[in-house]
Amino acid sequence: MGYETVIGLEVHCQLLTDSKLFCGCSTDYIGKEPNTNVCPVCLGLPGSLPVLNKKALEFALKAAIALNCEILPYSHFYRKNYFYPDLPKAYQITQYDIPVGRHGWIELPYSHKRIGITRIHLEEDAGKLVHPTKTGRIEHATYSLVDYNRAGVPLIEIVSEPDFSSPSEAREYLMELRSIVQHLGISDGNMELGSMRCDANVSVHREGEGLGVKVELKNMNSFKALERALNYEVERQIKLIKSGGRVEQETRHWSEPEKKTISLRGKEEAQDYRYFPEPDLLPIYVDEEILESIKSDMPELPANRRKRFVSMGIGEKEASIMVIEKSIGDYFEEAVKYFGDAKSIANWILGDFLGELNRAGLEIQDSRVKPHQLGRLLTLIKDGTISGKIAKKVFSIMFDTGDDPDEIVKREGLVQIVDRSEIEKVVEEVLSANPDAVESYRKGKANIFNFLVGQVMKATKGKANPNVVRDILQKKI
Ligand SMILES: [Zn+2]
Repeated sequence: MGYETVIGLEVHCQLLTDSKLFCGCSTDYIGKEPNTNVCPVCLGLPGSLPVLNKKALEFALKAAIALNCEILPYSHFYRKNYFYPDLPKAYQITQYDIPVGRHGWIELPYSHKRIGITRIHLEEDAGKLVHPTKTGRIEHATYSLVDYNRAGVPLIEIVSEPDFSSPSEAREYLMELRSIVQHLGISDGNMELGSMRCDANVSVHREGEGLGVKVELKNMNSFKALERALNYEVERQIKLIKSGGRVEQETRHWSEPEKKTISLRGKEEAQDYRYFPEPDLLPIYVDEEILESIKSDMPELPANRRKRFVSMGIGEKEASIMVIEKSIGDYFEEAVKYFGDAKSIANWILGDFLGELNRAGLEIQDSRVKPHQLGRLLTLIKDGTISGKIAKKVFSIMFDTGDDPDEIVKREGLVQIVDRSEIEKVVEEVLSANPDAVESYRKGKANIFNFLVGQVMKATKGKANPNVVRDILQKKI
């Protein structure tokens, strides 16, 4: 009998507002001296009063609209009480019974499965604990340091229905969700830097039986880590059940170096957060006017952009890859302005370009090759100045130096040889240097022809126009 997997995700996205959720402190805290980006409000000093950041609410509403949620006209904030050193007030201001939006959905781009969104709400981030040991892990530390620079930064939490039946679906959803917040311009969705964080609930059960016990997973800092952690956890639970054991309700931590999940705390340690309404903040009213003004300002979303790219002549799969990271889509559209053949541009971006970026560990927007330069390179291929093969070499130099393709072609002497008499000379040399090959070609070994073309290309360092070479060879042999 087989097993079925049930997964739900909780995703936190840091919003790209200039200031924190309830005070004027900057959200640009990375690399700042610890505890310098703080004020009485985000430190929770007595007598200080929070005021809601209007932009953060607008961003949360944008997300709720993009995720097809029901928008609630009235909501308010709660205090979620728990004592932990990263929380200066000993409570977090968050939403509880009435979120900004609920009952939405996302359609997955590859499987076209519809995933339910339970809710989306606004809340503030906590500070950061630093454990000064070589491993950075709390269990190895003799003391910890606290930095409140991040405390009070606005987050949206997006809770999905437990609609995923495999780890790969969960990953597909998370990538689509990131693409949506990037296209909305409300979050950069960077998992490595923690501006997008994801927790998962996982359970397995025998086919046809009731749901299994849920385990909560934390600490997955990349799409790959999420998929790995879920695969590991599904396997672990199935093995446990098969061997007659029982899955415990608990929270587990994904360890990327060890490639396994480790138990953090069990159910008996579950917290009672004693939620109660935040008395220092006014309720939130979202009227039609606010909603209409946000709706009229919605940018193009990934689903539509994919369709538009396909209508430009690109395959569905290629379009998906270019939309999954907004900056790649932006680059593509910019380059198409300089070279109209969208399919060629896409092939270059998804081939040589992404390859070089991966090797260099760079994002496309940080590349030295600008969209107009890529367009120009493709123009040089199209007008016959260089061959496709030489273009790869030129591109590689462009990638390293940021120089214009024309300049590189001139400097390195890479202009394609199209002059027939020049190529004829080389063909004759190659034919007289390879009498055996010529002989066997004449005896019927047709594939020798390509060998001879290769020899001519080699002799011209790849600069001869291959079509002219073929034409001359056919006539001479
Ligand atoms: Zn502050």
